[in-house]
Amino acid sequence: MRICGSCENTLEGKRSDAKFCSPACKQRGRRKRVAAAAADRQRTLTPEGRRLVDNLAAVLPATAGRVENFILQNGADCTKAAVGLVLSAYSEARQLAAF
Ligand SMILES: [Zn+2]
Repeated sequence: MRICGSCENTLEGKRSDAKFCSPACKQRGRRKRVAAAAADRQRTLTPEGRRLVDNLAAVLPATAGRVENFILQNGADCTKAAVGLVLSAYSEARQLAAF
């Protein structure tokens, strides 16, 4: 038995290619798809993010991969903050090591 893609209603009596039970459910499903696509876009590195992570990899190869995973999990919006935090922690550690 086929059921609506938005709620638990059956699609009995609907066209064989129907995916939703009502226009409201169809709209809800469309909104969900748009939101999911936007979330997916967030989960890839932007060109700017790629450049930052590559720069980071030049200094801290082991850390860059973890930072990239962090960005992929938390969204591209956090790219600059994540790379900036690691770089400032790195330069602080270097200054400490110099003493
Ligand atoms: Zn429905």
